[in-house]
Amino acid sequence: DDFVLGLDVGGTKLAAGVVSADGRVQAFTVTPTGAGDGPEQVIARLCRLARDTVSSAGLRLADLTAVGICCCGPLDSRSGVVHDPPNLLGWGDVPLADLVAAELGVRVWVENDATAATVGEWRFGAGRGIRDLLYFTVSTGVGSGAVIDGRVFRGGRGNGGELGHTLMVADGRLCGCGARGCLEAYASGTAIAARARERIDDGGHSTLAALTDINAADVARAARAGDALAHAVWRETTDLFAAALAGFINVFEPQLIVLGGGVARTGDQFLVPVRERARVLAMRPAGEIVEVRQAQLAEKAGVVGAAAAAFDRVTTGE
Ligand code: BGC
Ligand code: ZN
Repeated sequence: DDFVLGLDVGGTKLAAGVVSADGRVQAFTVTPTGAGDGPEQVIARLCRLARDTVSSAGLRLADLTAVGICCCGPLDSRSGVVHDPPNLLGWGDVPLADLVAAELGVRVWVENDATAATVGEWRFGAGRGIRDLLYFTVSTGVGSGAVIDGRVFRGGRGNGGELGHTLMVADGRLCGCGARGCLEAYASGTAIAARARERIDDGGHSTLAALTDINAADVARAARAGDALAHAVWRETTDLFAAALAGFINVFEPQLIVLGGGVARTGDQFLVPVRERARVLAMRPAGEIVEVRQAQLAEKAGVVGAAAAAFDRVTTGE
């Protein structure tokens, strides 16, 4: 059998999985990225995770066809260099593919994390058989990818479909990418938590005030329990995300939008208001046709998709 090692480098966690050509995951492990650690430490940790995962699948590195890494962008998927991603603070430009290939001795391919997850969900998850779809991961950042006319859209260097940095609010909140008013600056898990904290610091009353560290799951929980401040933050988030989706629906006319990542994993609390409002705001008939579904591969989407993309690239040599 042919196996590819899929690696996922995210702002919060690192994941590794040994994946077969039909998308089956033989072994899967996750570890924290280690926020604040530089690229050397994170890559060393990633390579340890890689070795452990390969041996727990009963394989050796030499048995692998390739390694497919997905990472938060921006990056260059041809050279395998990541370009100072907003969600890997202080990295600068890092030749990720070369560093990992030197350490593991296997050919490495690099892909944007959300594009990889798009491939995973399209081939093996919620988007099987769909010709036109958009995928979003709403987590540390807001990442996205598109399948157009039955092909994964990558743009020139693998950064096509970065919808998370669409400008939603003129002169709005500062985004990690350096711009103001991006979708990510409002709707990422990080931004949801920060917006709740700011309201509390401005004197707003909330059960969340007792927490030293607020995260998006806390905001979701408090909103469900009837906390008015948390509810307002959540409502603003789903409204803004739906407005963004409406625009993307008009651009792409997808049959399906798949929502993944920690924020989307709150389930109907995110999905239902986003779906309803996006469908109303989008133009007809696109808004009536589009389905909005939760992702199926959960935290494995990145490694499965990165592996599938690496299999493709080994085959085509691109
Ligand atoms: C990056 C995307 C990435 C997303 C999720 C965004 O800030 O620009 O490339 O997919 O975060 O990690
Ligand atoms: Zn941005």
